[in-house]
Amino acid sequence: MAVRDSGESLGETSIVGPQHLDYEVQRRVFNGLIDRHPAAIVKCKSHSDVISAVRIARERKWKIAVRGGGHSVAGFGTCDDGLVIDLSLMRRVRVDAENRIATVEGGALWSDVDKATQKFGLAVPGGEISTTGVGGLTLGGGHGRLSRAYGLTADSLLAANVVTADGTSVETSSNLEPELWWALRGGGGNFGVVTSFTFALHRVPKYVLGGLLIFGPERALEAMNLYLWWAKNAPRTMSLEFIAFTAPDLPEVPKRLRGRPAVAVTVFAFKDIDGGRNVLEYMCMTAPPDANTVDTTLYVDYQRSLDRNHPPGMRNYWTAVGQSELNITSARMFLDSIFPLPSLHSLVLLMRWDAAICDPVPESSAVPRRRPSWVVHAMAVWSDDAADERAIGWARNVSAAVSPADDPYLNYVGARSGGQVAAYFGEDRYARLVAVKSAWDPDNIFCHNHNVVPPPGGTNSVSA
Ligand SMILES: Cc1cc2nc3c(=O)[nH]c(=O)nc-3n(C[C@H](O)[C@H](O)[C@H](O)COP(=O)(O)OP(=O)(O)OC[C@H]3O[C@@H](n4cnc5c(N)ncnc54)[C@H](O)[C@@H]3O)c2cc1C
Repeated sequence: MAVRDSGESLGETSIVGPQHLDYEVQRRVFNGLIDRHPAAIVKCKSHSDVISAVRIARERKWKIAVRGGGHSVAGFGTCDDGLVIDLSLMRRVRVDAENRIATVEGGALWSDVDKATQKFGLAVPGGEISTTGVGGLTLGGGHGRLSRAYGLTADSLLAANVVTADGTSVETSSNLEPELWWALRGGGGNFGVVTSFTFALHRVPKYVLGGLLIFGPERALEAMNLYLWWAKNAPRTMSLEFIAFTAPDLPEVPKRLRGRPAVAVTVFAFKDIDGGRNVLEYMCMTAPPDANTVDTTLYVDYQRSLDRNHPPGMRNYWTAVGQSELNITSARMFLDSIFPLPSLHSLVLLMRWDAAICDPVPESSAVPRRRPSWVVHAMAVWSDDAADERAIGWARNVSAAVSPADDPYLNYVGARSGGQVAAYFGEDRYARLVAVKSAWDPDNIFCHNHNVVPPPGGTNSVSA
């Protein structure tokens, strides 16, 4: 393919085009519903490869899709016709334990960060599945088990190295290019390719308490009641979620429940494990579960404990809706919409976003909605294309049962229209994001994301 003729040097970096044997594999992302055909995929190995790739795209007037971990359910890590800048060979993590700082390359996964930082009893609040990319999760905000204690992932970001739309290198932090810095934390992949992230690290001892309190579906309301109270009242060192799913095939789970629809309260506690055990004891006294898998475990193991439930290549359709108050009446309506699940891997999560997530001053980053809220997140996950309509209909139905509701977090949902993205950020925040976009990517070359659209009249028109 002609990319090598462009005059840009990519050294030994591999460029995968449609004629390449590996193209069918490389064009795919996590979500098997996404079926796009980029003009080329550049597997970058370094910051300078990324610069060359951006310049090649500009020269050819191609739009760019940046791929970190490839987990975006909207499929933003690939595209039709444009150039995919694939960062999967850029996964190095450097830890400065003394200063509690980690420098993480733009294509790293959370497993890379957890492994490197836990050697020193440290961690960044990352996602709940270790195969998710650091890039997309951080730039969209980033929520995980440590967030009630230490905030969203973007709140721990100290600096970033960015290759911008004109192919130049920019360092950004609270002192350097502060508007770009503000926009990167929550505004998604709109502003350039982040080749390295610098994070503040937090103390997270090796051992944590984690597992599930599982209940048969006939006890769903009782479990929900238990969850609604403790989710609000547990200490910040605990994180609880309500889940409706298919009960796992584990020795602790009674045979009658295994492989059948069930609900559970997921329990995670760190630092104050004794305090966590006390809460657990109260919970089990109030509503004795049908199975209890909660135990002490290594933090790194717990972080990857659910990976096998999210295999790559399955068809995924996700919804997420937020509500400031969820009383037992509306909880009952949403419970009624859940069963039967459309497939074994499908599930619904109910989370509470509060505590440290809501501590930052709202204007301090582009992340909107820093107020306590409930998030209902339905994940339809299936493999047979004949089941598309049923699975997608189910996920939509679950979110429709939560009303009134709004978009709580774009990383949990598929593509959104320009109006929906603007509504998510709110008028003032969106206007500020548009100003940053106009300054750094006026031609919208980075458009495969929840797109902040610059005003027309960029410098150099580029095709899709
Ligand atoms: C199984 C699974 C579990 C998840 N769990 C969580 C969770 O616990 N918490 C949570 O908050 N979210 C979670 N998510 C959602 C996740 O945050 C988003 O899907 C996120 O976009 C994934 O990032 P990625 O790098 O893997 O994705 P990609 O598809 O590679 O990228 C997503 C977007 O980010 C941009 N991007 C990625 N890397 C860079 C970079 N280095 N520079 C510039 N732009 C970049 C891309 O251009 C694209 O627009 C989960 C998703 C999945 C599929």
